[in-house]
Amino acid sequence: MTASDTHKLVIIGSGPAGWTAAIYAARAQLEPVVYVGVPKQDPGPVLPGGQLMLTTEVENYPGFPHGVTGPKMMEDFQKQAERFGTRVIGEDIARVEFSRTPGVPHVLHTSEGVVVKAHAVIIATGAVANWIGLPNEMRLARTGGGVSACAVCDGALPGFRNQPLAVVGGGDTAMEEASYLTKFASTVYVIHRRDTLRASKIMQQRFLSRPNAKVLWNKVVVDVLGDEVISGVMLEDTVTQERSRLDVRGLFIAIGHTPATRFLKDSGLEFTEKGYVALKRRDSYTNIPGVFAAGDVADEHYRQAVTAAGMGCTAALDAERWLAAHNVH
Ligand code: NAP
Repeated sequence: MTASDTHKLVIIGSGPAGWTAAIYAARAQLEPVVYVGVPKQDPGPVLPGGQLMLTTEVENYPGFPHGVTGPKMMEDFQKQAERFGTRVIGEDIARVEFSRTPGVPHVLHTSEGVVVKAHAVIIATGAVANWIGLPNEMRLARTGGGVSACAVCDGALPGFRNQPLAVVGGGDTAMEEASYLTKFASTVYVIHRRDTLRASKIMQQRFLSRPNAKVLWNKVVVDVLGDEVISGVMLEDTVTQERSRLDVRGLFIAIGHTPATRFLKDSGLEFTEKGYVALKRRDSYTNIPGVFAAGDVADEHYRQAVTAAGMGCTAALDAERWLAAHNVH
């Protein structure tokens, strides 16, 4: 803290971007404080550590020739940040009042009602899973009725064993979740709205090579059936508009993510058309002096653990230079 009880740097978020920013900032003696957030259902799980906490193997982060699980990776990132003196607080930042004047600190309000002041802030809150938005989908997701946005979290439950299951989506997440489910489901249907997958070839191949894998092309889910637990889905063909019923005992939604920016509402921060924090150049500067952003919350293109970590590094270096330029030491 500086003399006025104001932190030099607060980092909001605890995925690869947040922890990498903390490692760099702590080594630069900025005494960073990381607000890691609290676990919640939204209606699916949102955990400190972010999306990697809901991932099995990470195989494409350099330095791990045999892969590493997402949660283990985040645990090690945190340990590395703490080794250099990062402070970790298990609360959400619920609301912000950003200052427009360097020297006048930003004011952050935690979910516990604590007021936190900081000269510089790095936003690294990542993104949360999207839902189709059907009333019965949301109802069964909230009540544990067999609808989930995280196969890795929920897929191994006994109710899904040897049952037909469906995954909605055609990206890498859908392939990853569907491949995981083939280990215990009788059949895994991937329901995709087009006739080609968006996922990388290796992830497609991994799923399609399983004997119990099926893709239903040009289909969207228009209703989820079942009272207390799911009994099936109503599909609509995107070409013929024909409707058909598919019996499944589990439905996993993997249709992308939305940046976690709700707490930044009315903050004066600029966003892109798609709702990501807008960066001024190829660095981490936002439109507000002393406020930087890194990782999936500000990245609508790449959204990889390794790119998020790189952005976290950039944000810490930018914050360090900005603080020095404004005489905060
Ligand atoms: P994504 O790449 O944006 O894919 C979302 C998929 O959901 C797309 O196929 C999209 O269809 C479909 N979709 C979107 N809205 C829909 C709706 N309302 N109804 C039906 N379908 C809908 O998202 P992601 O798969 O979560 O991946 C995000 C990023 O993380 C990507 O960069 C990905 O490479 C990365 N990732 C990597 C790995 C890995 O390498 N191990 C694992 C997971 C994720 P369209 O194709 O028609 O748009």
